[in-house]
Amino acid sequence: MSEQQGQGQAVFQDRVLRCVDCGQEFTWSAQDQEYFHEQGFANEPKRCLPCRRAKKQRYADVHARKGSKK
Ligand SMILES: [Zn+2]
Repeated sequence: MSEQQGQGQAVFQDRVLRCVDCGQEFTWSAQDQEYFHEQGFANEPKRCLPCRRAKKQRYADVHARKGSKK
């Protein structure tokens, strides 16, 4: 579970991608790729982690505001 020994499974390697929001390069870690693969996500991440978090936060804020009305 902790180490990949290459037992015929896809072995993920860190990759460098460019964020569409801030234009910075960021590392898409092997661990993240594995997670994406497990979740069945077909697309590569378009944003770096801070931008993803910021986007999530904005989304959460909007929903929190909407949800405050009962
Ligand atoms: Zn970014």
